Amino acid sequence: MRKLQANYLFNGISAPIPRAIVVVDEEGFIAEIAQDGDYQDVEYFEGVLCPGFINTHCHLELSMLHQQIPQHTGLPQFVQKIAPLRNKFSEQQTQQAIAAAEQQMIQNGIVAVGDIANNTASFAQKKQGNLYYHTFIECFALDPKRARTVVQQAIATYHQLPKHARSKGSLAPHAPYTASLELFLLIKWFNTQYNLVPSTIHHQECYPENDMFRNGTGEMVDLYRSFGTDISTFFEPIHDTSLTFVWAYFAREGKNLLVHNTVCGADDIDYMMENNPDTYWCFCPNANLYIENKLPNFSYFLPYTNRLTLGTDSLASNTELSILAEMKTIAQHAPYVSLEQLMQWATINGARLLNLDYKLGSIEVDKQPGINLITHLDANLQLTQQSTVKVLE
Ligand SMILES: [Zn+2]
Repeated sequence: MRKLQANYLFNGISAPIPRAIVVVDEEGFIAEIAQDGDYQDVEYFEGVLCPGFINTHCHLELSMLHQQIPQHTGLPQFVQKIAPLRNKFSEQQTQQAIAAAEQQMIQNGIVAVGDIANNTASFAQKKQGNLYYHTFIECFALDPKRARTVVQQAIATYHQLPKHARSKGSLAPHAPYTASLELFLLIKWFNTQYNLVPSTIHHQECYPENDMFRNGTGEMVDLYRSFGTDISTFFEPIHDTSLTFVWAYFAREGKNLLVHNTVCGADDIDYMMENNPDTYWCFCPNANLYIENKLPNFSYFLPYTNRLTLGTDSLASNTELSILAEMKTIAQHAPYVSLEQLMQWATINGARLLNLDYKLGSIEVDKQPGINLITHLDANLQLTQQSTVKVLE
């Protein structure tokens, strides 16, 4: 048994507890939470203890695109640049980059990942079971005539997922601007038939997405034109933000994760939570800064703090895969968010989203959550730019 103690314990589910002692058995299961003074043979650390982190949004299969796309291009340009790069790398380069990216997540205290897949490139790594993965098989098809074919291909990919306790999956639409009503309904049909929960979608990542839904104009529509597609033959603007489309046809019930939400307004968030309180939200602030150089207004989301999660996005749009780095960015740009809230977003909320809270996400007796040590906090118990994470268990 190890007995771990630091200045504070953030257990993921309650206010920080000063100098609590976490007793951990040989397999990493929590045996007891003891009080300061209960044991003499403790390992004491400067900093705070917290559960292993849950990364709810990653694209492991894009790991080889690290530093391939310049920063601040905006999303439409980013999407345009990523398409030809996907085939530039050999299978060996891709597999090496995926293995290194997973190793980086492990070193950064991440224990479970909600990971997007368009193909089977990440499956060999996932088969090893080093981390828990929920793989979202992604479907792209704005043209309703392509919906059936695209979903059939995604189902074939889904059936190739590694089959073990640390690998689950479901189908997911990529984004509102690459989905049709038909695509949404087919994805929901498959997920419902096999009881695959949750699903996810990139959401309100940039203003051009909303321009397309409001008016059928703007940079996103121009992007389609640059690929030779005139979307007006099958796409009708709805004179509202993309959330209305997502809510009406995809996310009216059940657990779904909306990712990015960079330009999402308070009225949209409130509407969604009133109508489907099971909805979860993911922030990827470092990717938002990388691509759009813009962050969501975090204050709009604070009434729903138990539905907020954090993601790293991929190495194509981030310098590292670290949930602590995402927390530091929020702490820097939105100091009104407390460390207790950030810890909740980084741990238990993601575990609940991914149905892993029976084991992960909080430091409670009989769970096996992983234990991280976070150092270099300031006197007000806030993260600083010097804060680091070390995996203790
Ligand atoms: Zn993404």
